[in-house]
Amino acid sequence: MRLVFLGPPGAGKGTQSARLVEKLGVPQLSTGDMLRAAVSAGSPIGLRAKAIMDAGQLVSDEVVVGIIDQRIDAPDCATGFILDGFPRTVAQAEALRVMLANKGLKLDAVIELAVDETMLVDRMRKRVEEALAAGKEVRADDNPESFKTRLETYRAQTAPVSAYFSELGKLVSIDGMMPIDEVTAAIDDALGL
Ligand code: AMP
Repeated sequence: MRLVFLGPPGAGKGTQSARLVEKLGVPQLSTGDMLRAAVSAGSPIGLRAKAIMDAGQLVSDEVVVGIIDQRIDAPDCATGFILDGFPRTVAQAEALRVMLANKGLKLDAVIELAVDETMLVDRMRKRVEEALAAGKEVRADDNPESFKTRLETYRAQTAPVSAYFSELGKLVSIDGMMPIDEVTAAIDDALGL
């Protein structure tokens, strides 16, 4: 199954895609994780992306489209994948459509987690507290200032991606404000799992 998860930062995309990975046996492809790995490795892409990511802005379409284009050719994506955090602009969505068509592939669904923005800042704070309590590293962009920019970036550049997929008849909108297990159940239901 080939899926896309859409939703603002803190909507639960990572949590819900991880649960689907277990059920479907396909990899979760998070462009954010891949870019953070590139930053840690100090690769040329990582070196260029770091400041942009820390500020909560978007890395160029060209870079992320290139990353995904290569990644979905890997053998573990043969039976599908879950895109988490990509596409984030209409140009990326269009590039994905062309890329998949060229590879003879189709998306099964685009799941949008709809949430009330006012609760997202609290979720981000909770994520930071939990990471600190678990002795884990806190993301450089999980601070109030970068988070505000990430939300603004989402509103301006990523929200239109929902309309794009809706017009293609692919969009399934799920209430992301429900308890985590109920969101999972609603997603399973929508996908017929
Ligand atoms: P995430 O882990 O999905 O919240 O992504 C963290 C950061 O990585 C974002 O704030 C962007 O700076 C960058 N990033 C991740 N995915 C994309 C994408 N599809 N397009 C552009 N930038 C991205």
